[in-house]
Amino acid sequence: MRKITHLIDSKSVESTSGNVGPVFNPATGEQTGEVDLASVEEVDLAVESSKKAFEEWGNVSIARRVKLLHDFRNLVIQNEAEIASRLTQEHGKVADDARGEVARGIENIEFACGFADSLKGTYSEQASTGVDVYTVRQPLGVCAGITPFNFPAMVPLWMVPNAVACGNTFVLKPSERDPSAPRFLIELIQEAGFPQGVVNLVNGDKIAVDRLLEHPDISAISFVGSTPIAKYVYSTGTSQGKRVQALGGAKNHMLVLPDADLDLAADSAVSAAYGSAGERCMAISVVVAIGEIADPLVDAIKLRMEKLVIGPGEDPNSEMGPLITQEHRDKVAGYVGIGAEEGAHLIVDGREQVFENEGFFIGVSLLDHVTTDMSVYKEEIFGPVLTVVRVDNYNQAVEMISSNPYGNGAAIFTRDGGTARQFQQDAEAGMVGINVPIPVPVGYHSFGGWNDSLFGDTTMYGPEGLNFFTRPKVITSRWPDPTTSQVDLGFPQNN
Ligand code: NAD
Repeated sequence: MRKITHLIDSKSVESTSGNVGPVFNPATGEQTGEVDLASVEEVDLAVESSKKAFEEWGNVSIARRVKLLHDFRNLVIQNEAEIASRLTQEHGKVADDARGEVARGIENIEFACGFADSLKGTYSEQASTGVDVYTVRQPLGVCAGITPFNFPAMVPLWMVPNAVACGNTFVLKPSERDPSAPRFLIELIQEAGFPQGVVNLVNGDKIAVDRLLEHPDISAISFVGSTPIAKYVYSTGTSQGKRVQALGGAKNHMLVLPDADLDLAADSAVSAAYGSAGERCMAISVVVAIGEIADPLVDAIKLRMEKLVIGPGEDPNSEMGPLITQEHRDKVAGYVGIGAEEGAHLIVDGREQVFENEGFFIGVSLLDHVTTDMSVYKEEIFGPVLTVVRVDNYNQAVEMISSNPYGNGAAIFTRDGGTARQFQQDAEAGMVGINVPIPVPVGYHSFGGWNDSLFGDTTMYGPEGLNFFTRPKVITSRWPDPTTSQVDLGFPQNN
């Protein structure tokens, strides 16, 4: 069985804590690996290494940082197939989806490669007579990233390239459920030539996270995961004086107006609800059908669901793979039952599908006539279960999104430009799609939701990522003739 260790100071470090976690191949149900879970002392070792590395890295030239980032990007491209294969083996996502994840991660490295332009700073010559004022952005120190299981490669790439581009050093604590892809990425960082300690990796669970949150040498925490843990990470980290951005869970709505193209809306709903088995924070989990489109839309979605091929991610015919663990699979199955008990119409019951493989598979489910008081509406299911809520008009649909505690993504499907534009204004969500079901911003914009989907002031990657990983310093400078100097106790005024 494979052993997955920490990477500290460019070396593989085995845990001595005695705590390990199982890593499964979700398509077979077999345990294929054992991941070390760090003790407090092991986290301290990684932080100490990154703290030491910061002494030099914080002063490394922009030119050198840019070159290393380009070299890292090239290595990720060369190893795309290997990274994607690790994603499929431990997460279960199908090959095509895994390659898509790596491609979106590469976008983030490419944005970081251009950081020099974004961080040029500002300069005001002659802000006052003989006085110039300029702003520079400087690194924070040692930053840490805590990432979820569902994008084991892409989410670390939302954080690490921007953090190190800005001159910080970094300790990554990836999800313990699929740790091989992020570990491989950090090996590639080392191969690219980043100095020892600039990026360290510790595997672990709550013990490791808690130590990172309280460690006095960690300046900032970037977190992505479920809402309860995001809230905890934000409140604990900020109470320790750290800068924290913590992205949480989601319940993304897709409004379908009566004038929408039915095929486009149905294709989009099915793709966005069941892609990656619904284990995406931007998955559509609620279709809000407005008016008379509801019946034909549900029929069109059902028709498409029947054709979906569910199987092992390594099989090129598979369109959807298994869930991450047996426990999660059972939780998702439980929600399908709860939805039916609560009065929703169970149009397609994914629990009934029989699979040849032993893995953590479940079929796709569709619940219609869902109402906002049902648990299947209120709670994040994070599986291949799509709910349909029927409303009479646009205002009711918008009100529903506003009342939902989450606010990651929201989409509208319509042919009416005026209503789409109004929705862009009304939607209580951080990312909006207009005829786009999964509006994940490109790498040079930034990613993040509102309300219970994000705790903190900055969203992730892109320009906001660079802001998060730097702090501004404003310099006011003058070179007066010393012979004109005199004592002046008045408050300095600009003139
Ligand atoms: P999770 O919250 O269980 O775990 C995320 C990280 O927190 C992991 O590294 C884990 O080890 C750690 N963790 C878990 N329990 C902890 C605890 N009690 N104390 C301290 N640390 C703990 O999330 P997950 O199941 O890995 O990922 C799925 C969730 O992430 C979903 O809710 C999904 O919506 C969300 N997500 C959000 C975004 C976003 O951008 N908003 C992106 C991806 C995933």
